[in-house]
Amino acid sequence: MPLHLYNTLSNKVEDFAPLTDNTVRMYACGPTVYDYGHIGNFRTFVAVDILRRFLLQSGYKLQHVMNITDVDDKIIRNAAREQKTVQEYTRPYEDAFLEDMGTLNLERPEKMVRATEHIAEMAEFIKKLEAKGFAYKTEDGSYYFSIAKFPEYGKLSKKDFGGMEIGARVDVDEYEKDNARDFALWKAPKPGEASWDSVIGPGRPGWHIECSVMAMKYLGDSFDLHGGGEDLTFPHHENEIAQSEALTGKIFSRFWMHVRFLLVEGKKMSKSEGNFYTLRDLLLKGYKPSAIRFLLTSVPYTKQLNFTFAGLEQGAKSVDRLRTFKSRVETAQLLPGANARIQELAAETRREMTAGMQDDLNTARAQAAIFDMVREGNIALDESTLKQNDKAPLLAALQQFDEIFAVIKDDDAEKIARATEWAKAHGKLEGSALTADIMSDADVEKLIAERNAAKKSRDFARSDAIRKELTEAGIVVEDTKDGIRWKRK
Ligand code: AMP
Ligand code: ZN
Repeated sequence: MPLHLYNTLSNKVEDFAPLTDNTVRMYACGPTVYDYGHIGNFRTFVAVDILRRFLLQSGYKLQHVMNITDVDDKIIRNAAREQKTVQEYTRPYEDAFLEDMGTLNLERPEKMVRATEHIAEMAEFIKKLEAKGFAYKTEDGSYYFSIAKFPEYGKLSKKDFGGMEIGARVDVDEYEKDNARDFALWKAPKPGEASWDSVIGPGRPGWHIECSVMAMKYLGDSFDLHGGGEDLTFPHHENEIAQSEALTGKIFSRFWMHVRFLLVEGKKMSKSEGNFYTLRDLLLKGYKPSAIRFLLTSVPYTKQLNFTFAGLEQGAKSVDRLRTFKSRVETAQLLPGANARIQELAAETRREMTAGMQDDLNTARAQAAIFDMVREGNIALDESTLKQNDKAPLLAALQQFDEIFAVIKDDDAEKIARATEWAKAHGKLEGSALTADIMSDADVEKLIAERNAAKKSRDFARSDAIRKELTEAGIVVEDTKDGIRWKRK
């Protein structure tokens, strides 16, 4: 069965497959690096990561491009205010974004490209648009796209611009929700602000042109899929289509995927509401990256996700359940043979996870399937009905799950420790709940070995002291019939 994917362009769920040679060519709008990424941004980036991982799991190759918007109005304004070059201003945020991607186990797209490294190509593109009559120059040296020349304008956002004012212009990068206007392709320089020399004169690119230019450079005139958050549908993506299709006369992207916005505690996230969180804010409060990733994937990308702290706690419990189950299965001492019911359960779970993901990336359905398996598997372990040959299929189902969801490997403590170090270096630790030092996995293992040795030599005072030290460091040690297991609280 193919992947059924909702396409904003056709307003339908369609069968998705690449156009040529088993390689999916896709472009997803990346971050604007003027600040640290917030959890709304990461809702979208995680959703795209889930798509990419599922496409790979389904046997496709990928050519996935993500841009880094390192030039726009806000960046230019902020850089000028801080008396920095655009690069000096944006690079630390870009580095932070790449590290945040690692924190959330986001796979690197095959290509990540900076807008500022494609400015000459953007100017060339605009020159060609002008030659074809789609772009015009204003007195100050700016260039605009004439939307009246592109009759299909509005086909993505399904807006009817029948009554629009012809020739009305907009030159800000910030979003305008309902107005169709000729939009800026190139802006004439302003005193004291960064600008670039080019074949169409000095200035800086508008926001929309960067994505058209970089998408077409790395993926060709037509490619398979383009994605981003739902707010990008209009005007950003509508404008990308207009520019690109005006130039080539070919379809730009066949599929358009848009991720529903995330709310925080039921409200739109905003600094003034006090419900605005960067990923780093959450780590400094002690929340685990795996719990954050789990919560961000727990609602399919087509549905609104309400991000709450209760949900994060729940996410942490769910991840813990998976990890504990995996280690139980791995360490259990079992009788030889196979339990037919468990064999069938693992196979059914794998089928259902795939079917869930093929159902417009229904992550909730895939997660429900794995937790059904964990519940039944745990009962079998408790009742000692699990057999030696059941281990492999159960672990294979967990692996299939984790190739997409990427939460089972426990490296949370290291990641939180790294964020804490960063915050210390940047003086951002104030008010953080996380000040305690984190014990490394190696130190935990070492103490557990010492405790075992103390117990063997009947030095109970020493073994109790070690147990206390571990508890204080947030390590839970369990003596089970299959030996010692430990985890972090
Ligand atoms: P930006 O860094 O503002 O260019 O945004 C990067 C990505 O995050 C874009 O795809 C946006 O659509 C997306 N985004 C921004 N806010 C939210 C939100 N609250 N929920 C989901 N996606 C968002
Ligand atoms: Zn874009």
